[in-house]
Amino acid sequence: MSADYDHLQQAAKDHLWMHFTRHASYAQADVPIIVRGEGAYIYDAQGKRYLDGLAGLFVSQLGHGRTELAEAAAEQAKQLAFHPLWSYAHPPAIQLAEKIAGYAPGDLNRVFFTSGGGEAVETAWKLAKNYFKVTGKPMKHKVISRTIAYHGTTQGALSITGLPLLKQQFEPLVPSTFRVPNTNIYRAPLHGDDPETFGRWAADQIAVAIENEGPDTVAAVFLEPVQNAGGCFPPPPGYFQRVREICDEYDVLLVSDEVICAFGRLGHMFGSERYGYQPDMITCAKGITSGYAPLGAMIASDRLMEPFAGAAHHDHQEHIPPGARAEHGSDAMFAHGYTFGGHPVSTAVALKNLEIFEEEKVLEHVRSTEGAFRATLERLLDLPIVGDVRGDGYFYGIELVKDKATRETFSDEECERILFGFVSKQLFAEGLYCRADDRGDPVIQLSPPLICDQQHFDEMEQILRIVLDKAHSML
Ligand code: PMP
Repeated sequence: MSADYDHLQQAAKDHLWMHFTRHASYAQADVPIIVRGEGAYIYDAQGKRYLDGLAGLFVSQLGHGRTELAEAAAEQAKQLAFHPLWSYAHPPAIQLAEKIAGYAPGDLNRVFFTSGGGEAVETAWKLAKNYFKVTGKPMKHKVISRTIAYHGTTQGALSITGLPLLKQQFEPLVPSTFRVPNTNIYRAPLHGDDPETFGRWAADQIAVAIENEGPDTVAAVFLEPVQNAGGCFPPPPGYFQRVREICDEYDVLLVSDEVICAFGRLGHMFGSERYGYQPDMITCAKGITSGYAPLGAMIASDRLMEPFAGAAHHDHQEHIPPGARAEHGSDAMFAHGYTFGGHPVSTAVALKNLEIFEEEKVLEHVRSTEGAFRATLERLLDLPIVGDVRGDGYFYGIELVKDKATRETFSDEECERILFGFVSKQLFAEGLYCRADDRGDPVIQLSPPLICDQQHFDEMEQILRIVLDKAHSML
């Protein structure tokens, strides 16, 4: 090893605080250092190549090494590197807001930029509270979300998160959040053999929670189109349609947390489009720039903006349902913001990213190849350790089981020894970067760049087959 590499390795151990990392696991092992990317592949400091099966962290939609995106960033930095959106605007933020409003479903026409996903979730909750305060329903403030769902690490977003183990070291968190069941039909407590009845039941649990808490106190429900944590739970048929009815009945805002699912992950600009529902807000981040710069956004409906839109928008009040019109005039301010939210470089990169989506027909590519991706991964179902392969678009979870017939899951010891001690490390050693996760049942998550095709699907399947076959023999 070169002296440079040794220094970098030691400095990583001595100074870098990695995220969600058990640093003890690197006491005897090298920290993986990724130095460059090209297309669907990443390379480590020793030059070894890996297929980027997770698009970094559900981020790198267009893959690595796209000079057009790097150049868009450089151009904007030369022109105007920074100006905030606090009472000022700059062209890339304006143009991107217009473009996103054009893509977003229905009347989701207003874009509030943030630096990332957790901030977008915070923003959505704060807007829900603020909106009801200025429209005469000041008690509405609580949030409903689903078990095992991840919504971020800031204290509000973490409070909305449905993973008790992730929260316990930080309690007390922001009060007033409540959990309902997710749509894990593989482990459905009821109606597991009937997706529509299961979906209806799962959606109805939201109405039960609203009734239990008191409809006058509930502001919003936060749901991902496909829930990531737990290993990809797509919505059963009719689920979101029923959720929309419930939200309308109780005047609760439906927030579609699309930090992962937007920008092509499911073959559409927005996941809500794929499943045919109309949210009141969308939160997004990650793929908006394909990772070439950090950016997030909360996209709100005209109704939610109306109390904050100012006099110029009074003319549009007739489009807003009477109950939702501002009672305190329409000069309220949403007193919220982030220095780097809507950063000029990030918004310029996002504009270029979305331009490339159109030029290269990225959404069409995902829609035309997703069936082949699914079919390739489903080949793994012949392995006794693979219990379930689930997902949509370019977004999959593979659940590992101890016994396929009974769906018996791993013990804690088996998760440690096999999932983390072997599968996770061995997949990487064999050249596949993806993620082993036990936040629910043990799963492997796959979410490759949207430029991938059959050759990459085959490569994933082949590496998974070798590693999972060995893992089974360790049970
Ligand atoms: N919501 C969802 C659904 C996410 O998947 C994530 C991140 N994985 C977040 C929110 C938080 O985003 P960030 O890490 O950019 O703050």
